[in-house]
Amino acid sequence: MDLDQEKMKIMKFGGTSVGSVDMIKHVARLISNEEPKLVVLSAMSGTTNALAEIAAKLTRGDVSGATGDIENLENRYMEVAANLYFSEGSAGKAKKHILDSFSILKGFVGHTFTYVEEKIVLAQGELISTMLLHLYLTETGVHSTLLPALDFMRTDKNGEPDMRFIHKNVRQTINSYPHNRIFITQGYICRNASGEIDNLQRGGSDYTASLLGAALNASEIQIWTDIDGLHNNDPRIVSSTMPVRRLTFDEASKLAHFGAKILHPTCILPAKQKNIPVRLLNTMDPSAPGTLISNSADTGRVKAVAAKDGVTHIKIRSLHKIPGYQLLDKIFHGFARTHTPVDLVAISDNEISLTTDTREYLPEILGELAPYADISVEDGMVIVCVVGDLIQSNKGFKHRIVDSLKGVPVRMISYGDNCDVSFVMHQKDKKKALEALSSSSVFQ
Ligand code: ADP
Ligand code: ASP
Ligand code: MG
Repeated sequence: MDLDQEKMKIMKFGGTSVGSVDMIKHVARLISNEEPKLVVLSAMSGTTNALAEIAAKLTRGDVSGATGDIENLENRYMEVAANLYFSEGSAGKAKKHILDSFSILKGFVGHTFTYVEEKIVLAQGELISTMLLHLYLTETGVHSTLLPALDFMRTDKNGEPDMRFIHKNVRQTINSYPHNRIFITQGYICRNASGEIDNLQRGGSDYTASLLGAALNASEIQIWTDIDGLHNNDPRIVSSTMPVRRLTFDEASKLAHFGAKILHPTCILPAKQKNIPVRLLNTMDPSAPGTLISNSADTGRVKAVAAKDGVTHIKIRSLHKIPGYQLLDKIFHGFARTHTPVDLVAISDNEISLTTDTREYLPEILGELAPYADISVEDGMVIVCVVGDLIQSNKGFKHRIVDSLKGVPVRMISYGDNCDVSFVMHQKDKKKALEALSSSSVFQ
């Protein structure tokens, strides 16, 4: 593949898309054509959860629990290998790889188990799924190249993707196979700045796809999953949701950040920076139009609603011992120093409300503010975010959105002439709020 001559497509398949023998065969059919492509695969559905559970048991020293779980998962994979291939040769190769992976896990039982070993455990799902698909393609006469993501996916010392390293190394690798057109690699896994195995956080295969799409200057980044595109409300909570056909990068990014699980929270940015369209497609219904995310979309409308759980709401009221600007400086300095993200902020005179999803350093940050302010902290909150073309010149939306929430106690509202209006409320009111916001008056 000569990247200076031709552009590739990125095709990322999530866990349910490769969740069974039949689904692996189906994905193989979808990718078996001459179009140049890099296929990014997740682990088979349920695997990363199972590996995380094994890691938790190993951390607690629960030897019998971990051993039982490892054996169950190993048996599941041996069954997949026994049913996926028609030749004994391919099944044998797959089984050998599976045994090797699980012997790594078994080697950890009863020994010191730190976050370094945990990351090795979590990486096995994607290493196995890509191997299974690659062997299946080979068996069916489709030529593909399996690329180890650990050779080019890397994070820097801040835990952020090392874009220069990724760009240089993935391009070099792909260009070294001038006659190959189908490449496969693992989503989610990477190495960190010390060279240890690491990952891009849960759901991170979407992020791998967009980082590689940006590095390869791909023609399109396709995210194949189990639903026909991004829906206008959370389909796990609201019953009558509809796919949204077009979104801007900014709209999609907000929805991903504020809880639309179909996309990893940060996966839109690399595509936006390179202006590469992202298409969300349904593996179960490949001809359905899905959602196209690009730099233009319909204007003048609310597009979708999402909700982010696990939010802490903090209210800081000045005791007037220092000027307001100094208090603000102390507050944001504390969050910045401890790398604690802030999602929403509302300031009124000497009262500041803000939200975060990271509690680790809150006692330290808030302890330093205690001499200067009265502080109250409430966990178990959610952010409900309404996204669309909500700039100030589009009159009427804000009124209809707020009106639909009249029966819901709201703690905080954030709007800054952007593409979202966000509301902070108690977790128990989330379902009611999402249902209220699905009314036709909001989406008209
Ligand atoms: P994958 O394993 O393919 O990465 P995910 O489970 O991460 O799939 O994402 C797809 C799921 O996201 C859907 O099955 C759906 O339940 C959930 N989801 C949450 N919010 C939305 C939304 N606004 N639109 C579509 N799907 C959503
Ligand atoms: N397998 C990983 C997870 O379950 C990554 C992904 O599926 O995107 O989180
Ligand atoms: Mg996902």
